[in-house]
Amino acid sequence: MHELSLAQEIISITEQYYSSDNNERVKSIKVKIGKLQNVLPDSLEFCFNALIQNSKMENAKMMIEHVPIKLECKNCGNISEQDGYLFACPKCGCSAITVISGNELTVSEIEFENVSNNKEVLN
Ligand SMILES: [Zn+2]
Repeated sequence: MHELSLAQEIISITEQYYSSDNNERVKSIKVKIGKLQNVLPDSLEFCFNALIQNSKMENAKMMIEHVPIKLECKNCGNISEQDGYLFACPKCGCSAITVISGNELTVSEIEFENVSNNKEVLN
């Protein structure tokens, strides 16, 4: 299960920025996923939501930003965006290409909310 290990990784990355003693709660996590990673977003979300159950990260929302596949031709320098897995330059047909984007798998943003502040409002 590709998506399960990805979800685990996203959580462990978030935990590195997260300290439980400053009354903060994870509100949302933005994840950048390149198309080449072949991730099923629904499945990733399902695994993520299952893993954060009853944890300090419970109720955190994951937002997925999809990064398209961009290729640069080594022959003619043409940069193209590709939807499928055709790894050849659409301009000259050359297959010597460099992947510029589409391989990403990063946590790009973590939003925290302060729990103690919320309490003060409630009281
Ligand atoms: Zn080319």
